[in-house]
Amino acid sequence: MTWQYSPSRREFLGSAAAFSLFPLEIEKPDLILHNANIFTVDARQPRAQAVAMANGRFLAVGSNSEVLNLAAPGIRKIDLAGKTVLPGFIDAHCHPGSSGVDMVVTVNCDLPSIAAIQAALRERAARTAAGEWVLGSKYDDTKGTEGRMLTRADLDAAVPDHPVAVMHRGGHTTFYNSTAFRMAKVDEKTPDPPGGKFDRDPATGKFTGRVADEARALVETFGAGLTTRENRREGIKLISKAMAKAGITSVGDAGGSPEDLRAYQDARESGDLSFRVYCLIVYPHLDKMLAAGLRTGLGGDFVRLGACKLFADGSISERTARLSKPYEGSPDYFGLLMMSEDDQYEHARKAHLAGWQIGTHANGDVAIDRTLRIYERLQKESPRNDPRFRLEHCTLVNDSLVTRIKALGAIPTPFSSYVYYHGEKMRFYGTERLTHMFAMRSFLDAGIPATQASDYTASPFEPMMALQSQVTRTDTQGNIWGANQRITLEEAIRVGTINGAHASYEEQIKGSIAAGKLADLVVLGRDPFKEDPSSLVTIPVERTMLNGRWSYQS
Ligand SMILES: [Zn+2]
Repeated sequence: MTWQYSPSRREFLGSAAAFSLFPLEIEKPDLILHNANIFTVDARQPRAQAVAMANGRFLAVGSNSEVLNLAAPGIRKIDLAGKTVLPGFIDAHCHPGSSGVDMVVTVNCDLPSIAAIQAALRERAARTAAGEWVLGSKYDDTKGTEGRMLTRADLDAAVPDHPVAVMHRGGHTTFYNSTAFRMAKVDEKTPDPPGGKFDRDPATGKFTGRVADEARALVETFGAGLTTRENRREGIKLISKAMAKAGITSVGDAGGSPEDLRAYQDARESGDLSFRVYCLIVYPHLDKMLAAGLRTGLGGDFVRLGACKLFADGSISERTARLSKPYEGSPDYFGLLMMSEDDQYEHARKAHLAGWQIGTHANGDVAIDRTLRIYERLQKESPRNDPRFRLEHCTLVNDSLVTRIKALGAIPTPFSSYVYYHGEKMRFYGTERLTHMFAMRSFLDAGIPATQASDYTASPFEPMMALQSQVTRTDTQGNIWGANQRITLEEAIRVGTINGAHASYEEQIKGSIAAGKLADLVVLGRDPFKEDPSSLVTIPVERTMLNGRWSYQS
């Protein structure tokens, strides 16, 4: 058994001279889980049968008899009947703040066909005031039964009079109707802005409706009206509940703003926050944060200020990542870079000098090379101890990039479920390139603590899907992509727990089931170690515990 006084007791004793309460009360467990099959992710004690907890922390981890010995009369005990317990999952890069607001204000376009999307948008338009936006989210151009992309004409046919914006689940492209372009006074004569693109029909030159990245700011005139403080708080309530149901106890919000930070604090205070959040702040807000004297790490165990988020290139699911070799079947197309290297360096330098962790969105090998070059330069010019530079996504690598990542101590946050969920998009990258994408085997072999990440809404957040995808490298149709990058189930669980904690400087307080750590765990319906790897995704999450309380029970 491992046993230690919880930090709360030590802190308490430290202040005992000033406050004379009942210190002995504090080390008594308030809950014991026993008769469980616990995979702890703690090297000192990999397996256990029981845990005791108090005040939101694990107090003791060990065998049934060892831990039950601590039970005093009246202490709650739960017999888990042999069920498997893992540490709570950490989704190191996802977008709960914005996807929560989506759940409140947008039409969910994760639907099986364009016709179904049209019907849903039409229905929303019918109860939306004239001139107000109709917004859609989670559209995926490769999933519909029609086998083609949504067009401006589809949207005009469904909703002629309201402006419409349907965002791709990847977050980097949006589809607009003609009313939206007209209201924004944007037409075919409008040039593509830097870092953005209006798609045009190759035959006629007319807008198709699909707009990428920075060009969207020229069309969108909504925002503040829909993202009210109340909508944000309500959104976090909904999304954190949904994620708790899947077994997630901590997230990194990779698209945060000061408004998101406030919303997380609002949700925490109203009892509606069902996960812990490390809130990255996108770089346009950095000056505001610096002026307020804030930097990475400030906050508490529930809401903590994360890294400064920068962007180097486009997305994998929407095929805008910047690659050194062209996309399959498009000999002249290499993807998009989001800003110049000089600008990226200047933003990164400002954050680095102010003591912020930096997380740079870099998917393609070109973008990763550039981002590493900037990180290397920063450490040479202004070395900092343990900066834990993050490479958000870090999708397409090669041996020399992996060597440089290791040398810097940088942290990739690869898409954990893409092979499984986005199999139909893999053909744009090709079999050979897939052997170097989402390169978990390469990272772990090099000793690089890569994390689990869904980038939700870009892919589903269910951790069981991430485990299956990384262990099998097989998509839903049975195609195998990059079998050389398979990792073991045990490795995938570590990636989804302790490595996520490390990416936010929190490996001392969470990410494994060990005495003294935060009491976050998940109870599964079946043992993943006895499961066929191709059905891991079907293992039900029965309960999720956050801070010693159930955040979800089936
Ligand atoms: Zn993201």
